Amino acid sequence: FKVPAVENEPMRSYAPGSAERKSLEAALAQLEKELPLEVPCVVNGKPVKTGKLAKQPMPHEYARHLCTYHEADQATVAAAIDGALAAKGEWEAMPWNDRAAIFLKAADLVSGKYRYKLMAATILGQGKNAWQAEIDAAAELSDFLRFGVKYVEELYSQQPPKNTPGSWNRVEYRALEGFVLAVSPFNFTAIGGNLSAVPALVGNVVVWKPSPAATYSNYIVYQILTEAGVPPGVIQFVPGPPEEVTGQAIANPNFAALHFTGSTFVFKKLWKDIAANLDTYKGYPRIVGETGGKNFHIIHQSAEIKNAVMQTIRGAFEYQGQKCSALSRVYVASSIWNAGFKEQLLAEVAKLKVGSPTDFANFIGPVIGRPAFEKVTSYIKKAKDAGGEILAGGSADDSVGYYVQPTVILTKDPKSVTMAEEIFGPVLTVYVYEDTDFEKTLDLIDTTSPYALTGSIFSQDRKALLQATNRLRNSAGNVYYNEKCTGAVVGQQPFGGARASGTNDKAGSMSIFYRFVSARSIKENF
Ligand code: GLU
Repeated sequence: FKVPAVENEPMRSYAPGSAERKSLEAALAQLEKELPLEVPCVVNGKPVKTGKLAKQPMPHEYARHLCTYHEADQATVAAAIDGALAAKGEWEAMPWNDRAAIFLKAADLVSGKYRYKLMAATILGQGKNAWQAEIDAAAELSDFLRFGVKYVEELYSQQPPKNTPGSWNRVEYRALEGFVLAVSPFNFTAIGGNLSAVPALVGNVVVWKPSPAATYSNYIVYQILTEAGVPPGVIQFVPGPPEEVTGQAIANPNFAALHFTGSTFVFKKLWKDIAANLDTYKGYPRIVGETGGKNFHIIHQSAEIKNAVMQTIRGAFEYQGQKCSALSRVYVASSIWNAGFKEQLLAEVAKLKVGSPTDFANFIGPVIGRPAFEKVTSYIKKAKDAGGEILAGGSADDSVGYYVQPTVILTKDPKSVTMAEEIFGPVLTVYVYEDTDFEKTLDLIDTTSPYALTGSIFSQDRKALLQATNRLRNSAGNVYYNEKCTGAVVGQQPFGGARASGTNDKAGSMSIFYRFVSARSIKENF
């Protein structure tokens, strides 16, 4: 038994008149007809309606909501944990090729039967335009599942290279003892699927708490995993008040691991909660997290201007800057800035259309919710108060949805607040450096923020690329040359960063699977 070679899911164009555009429009119209939906918790394969109702509003039209969902209460979380532990034995013992088949089927359901439904849920619920939904809910999610199967196959085949005569050594990759808590973010539907599927692929049971702002799309992912054959209890779907659900799960003595994507603040809090409970656990929990970023582009004097401009626009403004990897500070050599970078950047920003993500003409949609809107607009104000010059955008409108115009701020202070702190919105701050200060600017990049997720270097000079790569050795987990700092592809650029950006266990690669197994060495004498 060998898993066939896997390929990245091809991206569809959604060109006007294309079959895929028609299918997506039909899925959006269908979903609109069904609104608002009702989402239960799911424990041991059975829907649980706790009656503790919460709403997931649509960020482009927050007066309406996509779904009403039942928040998990204490009894539901307790039942989810007990049920997961009860399902564990059989799941772990299932032959690997059957487990693999389940996830390969799930990938096909994502890229086939449910593609447009999942994208429509992501567009209406999380404010992504069609192409951003395609990257996430169609392509990346199916890639995570397919490549995941391939990586686990490779992991299981890792064996000691040496035996002494008359003996045979082997390593068994056991699932962890206990359950895994998966806590997923709003900004990628694919991450919800990945955070629960990665541990389950290697035989773990998972209690999954999705982001309140992505409840419905994550529920569809859950249903797809079930339809593909993940048995009842193996992944438990428990939307709910975040702190209560995670607090209860972490207080349980069978807690074995956290698989998290979200803010640095929450990750640190959970880490401390885990430490406080350490004496109650059987072992040392695995803690895997991908958190914030303050990602950069540096545009060297040798950069090709047009490409640097286009990549900067896409890195900063796709999905309203709400990717952990999004670009938010750019350092431009003054000769390039004056030779057309500034002019072209502002001309391109002026072309970006802001509005409902259901309209294919719009590049920029709403930010996710009220707190995000307030945070982003407050940073624009702080930048102005500190003397930043607003070169583009700067305004916002929350009368119907949470819209912030794509904003470009020019600062003379390279350590100013919007150069240093994570904003998570469509706000780009530019610092223009003297061409002769390249090295000093690399120092600034490294020391201005606590994060180290992604960064890009634009240059046609190999020496400059090398110099930057060496100086920025610890400043980013994903580095790009002449390409935007977002859009890591599963199987191509393992994704993640260190410092305040996470444990750098690299989603979309084999290394993350090591975190969810506990190896056992077996020596047999003949
Ligand atoms: N992997 C995504 C990228 O490279 C970002 C994921 C995230 O926002 O957490 O753009």
